[in-house]
Amino acid sequence: MEAKEIVEVAADQQTVACDGGREGHPRVYLAFGDKNEVTCPYCGTVYRRKNTGR
Ligand SMILES: [Zn+2]
Repeated sequence: MEAKEIVEVAADQQTVACDGGREGHPRVYLAFGDKNEVTCPYCGTVYRRKNTGR
């Protein structure tokens, strides 16, 4: 699966909800855990936490 899109979210967000945008899929919640990036298994959208700790 290829990443179609990268969505930046706030650095303190623990989870994101993805519903697939244009193509659409059931809404899923993705947890970042200890990573700063998570990929939606349905649509391949990559969610990236903004690194504000510079
Ligand atoms: Zn998705």
